[in-house]
Order: sequence, then structure tokens, then C-alpha cells
Amino acid sequence: MPADALAAARRLHPAIRARAAAIDAAAAYPDADIADLAAAGLLGACLPADFGGIALGHGGPASAVLCEILTMIGAASLTVGRLYEGHVNAVRLVATYAPDALPLLAAEIAAGRPSGVWNAERANGLSAVRIDGGWQLSGSKIHCSGSGAIRRPLVTARIGDDGPLMMLPEVAAERADLSVWRAAGMRGTATGTVDFTGLVVPDAAVIGVPGDYYRSPFFSGGAWRVLAVQLGGLDAVMALHAEKLNLRGGTDAVPRARLARAGAAHEAARLIVREAAARAERDGNPAAIDAYVDLARGGFEELALTCIEATRRNIGLGSFIAPDPLDRVLRDLETYLRQPFLDASRDNAAAWLLDHEGRFQ
Ligand SMILES: Cc1cc2nc3c(=O)[nH]c(=O)nc-3n(C[C@H](O)[C@H](O)[C@H](O)COP(=O)(O)OP(=O)(O)OC[C@H]3O[C@@H](n4cnc5c(N)ncnc54)[C@H](O)[C@@H]3O)c2cc1C
Repeated sequence: MPADALAAARRLHPAIRARAAAIDAAAAYPDADIADLAAAGLLGACLPADFGGIALGHGGPASAVLCEILTMIGAASLTVGRLYEGHVNAVRLVATYAPDALPLLAAEIAAGRPSGVWNAERANGLSAVRIDGGWQLSGSKIHCSGSGAIRRPLVTARIGDDGPLMMLPEVAAERADLSVWRAAGMRGTATGTVDFTGLVVPDAAVIGVPGDYYRSPFFSGGAWRVLAVQLGGLDAVMALHAEKLNLRGGTDAVPRARLARAGAAHEAARLIVREAAARAERDGNPAAIDAYVDLARGGFEELALTCIEATRRNIGLGSFIAPDPLDRVLRDLETYLRQPFLDASRDNAAAWLLDHEGRFQ
């Protein structure tokens, strides 16, 4: 039941939050947190009922619950939230475009390993050529979260001019280069570069047809899940902000005004994420879904930056100094806010507004 999954996330929240500082300090992949998610059934919850899951993340009314789960895990640790969101995305793409390949992910989940989606690349990136019974890969992906730990990621590979083809290669940990991930935040996400050159992917591990990855509304519209995780980070920032002002005692009008500005931005962010999730997971016009989620992405970034700025001003230098949890949570959120094509998203939302009397209804 979705309610059980939510209860499990709620139960895990304190332990994941308690481990977040050590994960950040060591820039270590959160093995214990992922093991907890697996043991609580949250990795398997994304699978359809035939595989013992509850199809969490596959649309419909349970999406509101997924939104809460992602936010709750993100509030405990944006690093763990990022990894969980990638897993949810991978399972949904496979369930949507190639359900026959689900046993590959079910086997990973049974072994306690999540999946993830590795699409980002530089220059020529990853390509595949046809061989007997499958595809041979050549090239690499960048910014692969969970690299070295995830064995069956969903990757996109160029095969010609028809758009990329999704695949589930089996990737050995040695192919990951984590030396490139020396980020200010999200340090435990193991977001490395992975070289796939020479790997062979059998036809049974090919997902859908070329171009499916970017198909509307699952690609742009699905970005609401990232916002839901980021919202958890914003929840954590607001809680720490208020706690610190209270501890200081006797705040005057200036910090109170800044707190109110941060609180208004946080609340607006919460509402737009919830609305984006609801619209994206209802059957509807794909272009309208994409445009609304694009609006939410751009809006969320601005609201989050407003909240961060007000918090840093109110708390001052202390908000930049470890091991204060506010330092880590802000670094993580600022890093995770860097998402692809944000300017293009705003532009697409504007195009919709221009064609619809300046509003979404
Ligand atoms: C913690 C973390 C984990 C991640 N994990 C994954 C993962 O598992 N899988 C994955 O696929 N990706 C992952 N990513 C990468 C993510 O998908 C994006 O690729 C990345 O966040 C892009 O951020 P960016 O700010 O560089 O955005 P970009 O879209 O690259 O834009 C940066 C800036 O450059 C500008 N710009 C971009 N292209 C051009 C151009 N051609 N000409 C002019 N201006 C341009 C943009 O307008 C923007 O101002 C992760 C990112 C983070 C932060």
C-alpha cells in the first residue's frame, strides 16, 4: 500500500538524517541508507504488483504519496533523495517502455542495489553500434550518480539520427571514475564519469525504441520528482533557520522580515511542486504537462534561491561553517539546484503563456 511506503519513509527519516553529516564529511556513498531503503521495501515499491511492488511512481493517485516520500527522504538527506529519485525514474521508464526487461531490475533490487538514469554526456558521449543479438557501446557518460555502486543503470546511447536508445547495461564498478566528483555539495552521491567502451548490451536489455527517453510528457513532466526531493532540502533549511533564530532569542524586525520572506518562498515552492506532481501524473495534454512542470522548475529555482539568500543573511557566516548542519544542507541544495536546460524550461513555459492568455488553467 502507498500508505505503508510513506510510513516506512517516515520511520527511516531520523536515521538517514543522523548519518548525513558523516556521509558529507567522507564524501562516501550512503551504503547504510540505501540498505535501509531496500530493507524497508522502498526500492521494490517502484515495481509493478507482478514483481511484488506497488507501482509507486507509475502515475495515478499514488503519485501524491510518492511526492511526500521523495520530500521526506530529501529532507533527511538530499544525497539519498537524489539516488532514490534516479531509481524511481529508471524503474518507471523500464515499466513503461519495456516491461519484459523488469526482471533485470527486480534482480538488482532483490540484491539491495538501486538503479539510476545516466543521460548526461559531453561531446560525442555514448554511442552504440548494432551487432548480432544486441549493441556494442562506445564512449562515456558524465554526472552518473551512484556510479561504482549501481550495476544496472538505465543509459541513453546514440545509434543514429533517430534520438537516443535506452538500455540497461551491466556495468562493473571499475568502470566508474569518481575522482572527478569533488563537488561542494551532494558529495556522497558518487556522481562520477563512467566509460562503457566495449560493453555489449543484448536485445533483451534494450528499453523501447529510439527517442522514447525524451518522449512527452514523461521526460519534461517527470522533472517534478526532482523538485519534490529539492523541496525536502528546502524544508530542512527552513527548520534549521527557524531553530537558529529561536536559539538566538529576541529577534528584531529585520531577521523576522527575512524569515517571513524565506517562509513565503518555501510555501510557494511547496504548492507549486504539489500542483506540478498532480498535473504531471493525471492523464492530460502532454504539452500542457510539460509546460506546467517547466514553469514549476524555473519558479522553484527562484523561490529556493530566495529562501537560501534570506537564510544566509539571517544566520551569517555560521551558515558557511562545518559541521553546522545548515552549512551542509545549503551546500547540498545549492549544488542540486543546478539542473539541465533550466533556461529552455522557462522559455517553454513562456511559449505556453503567450499562447494561453498568460495563464495556466
Ligand atoms: C548532484 C547531482 C547529481 C546528478 N546526477 C545525474 C545522474 O545520475 N544522471 C544524469 O544524467 N545527470 C545527473 N546530473 C547532471 C544533470 O542531469 C545535469 O546535467 C547537470 O545538473 C547540468 O547542470 P548545469 O548547471 O551544468 O546545466 P546546463 O544545462 O549545462 O547549463 C549551465 C549553463 O550553461 C548554459 N548553456 C548550456 N548549454 C549551452 C550552450 N550550448 N550555449 C550557451 N549556453 C549554454 C545554460 O543556459 C546554463 O546557464 C546530476 C547533477 C547533480 C547536481
